[in-house]
Amino acid sequence: MNASSIPIYFDARQLAHQPLLELHNGGWSPYAEKSTRAEAILSQLGNARAVSDFGMEPILEVHDASYVDFLRSAHDEWRAAGREGDAIGYTWPVIRRRPVNLQRIDARLGRYSFDAATPIAKETWSAAYWSAQTALSALSTVIDQGSPAAFALCRPPGHHSGKDYCGGYCYLNNAAIAAERARQSGYRVAILDIDYHHGNGTQDIFYKDGAMLFVSIHADPATDYPFFWGHADERGEGEGKGATVNLPLPRGTPLEGYLTALDQALETIRAHSAELIILSFGADTFEGDPISHFQLRSEDYPVIANRISGLGLPTLIVMEGGYAVEELGRNVDGFLSGFAKAD
Ligand SMILES: [Zn+2]
Repeated sequence: MNASSIPIYFDARQLAHQPLLELHNGGWSPYAEKSTRAEAILSQLGNARAVSDFGMEPILEVHDASYVDFLRSAHDEWRAAGREGDAIGYTWPVIRRRPVNLQRIDARLGRYSFDAATPIAKETWSAAYWSAQTALSALSTVIDQGSPAAFALCRPPGHHSGKDYCGGYCYLNNAAIAAERARQSGYRVAILDIDYHHGNGTQDIFYKDGAMLFVSIHADPATDYPFFWGHADERGEGEGKGATVNLPLPRGTPLEGYLTALDQALETIRAHSAELIILSFGADTFEGDPISHFQLRSEDYPVIANRISGLGLPTLIVMEGGYAVEELGRNVDGFLSGFAKAD
């Protein structure tokens, strides 16, 4: 059982998303974002509350309808083209992008994705849909029922997904969908992203938006995925100038260096006069994570969480990455316990 009093939301339909392989470092490897991740967290935390269905409207506030249509039909189109396994792209329109209306599934996969780590399997749409509903249900506990915090056990994760693309194991941006919903309920919102990887999708969605603060602490994209976004000089655009704050850290960062960046992030959130936090939480900052390179230990998670809860703001904690499946439950539980603990 979890040691915290934070309400937990999860829907079992999220488990049916089962891609087999991803293209990584020059070879096909087993898909790292396995359903056993969510099962490990759930077995540590105990019972979760049932998820409600808020429908398509909050999803379409963030994502393009054409992209959502693609996600829903991509696997069927793949099979109709005579293919086996999961739908995955092999060509991406990097040069002189322009809107061309292409029908072949391989062209559509290139149009609506940015990497080969995000195959679309038979149940991907359904799992992504319920992952978004999980975030919305947990948010509702905070904004409609006055809970100081809630945890959305979202899977697949969301923060690499933009308005019209999937990538990095992410299909719908759960944090962004919840953030937009909270804003429409009248809150001034800040998104704090503490996954090991930069939340490029979330940044992109709100890049020109001055009212939505996006602060991210992550591995330096000069050495780590997603490479092209998350550099310190990305600060937002137009009215959004200054409302994007990137704090990249070198590989090997231990707790001490991490907390220095975290204090800077929290100061930025205070200065924004935020009234509600959407926290994209990844446990892939853990020293034993198989695809990441920070040096955070299990006992560091309560410390980090407690410092964030010190802001004293209503907070929705949204699960992003974390691939050390054996320690994942313990690390998430430690984080939630530290968050719930009074100073
Ligand atoms: Zn990550």
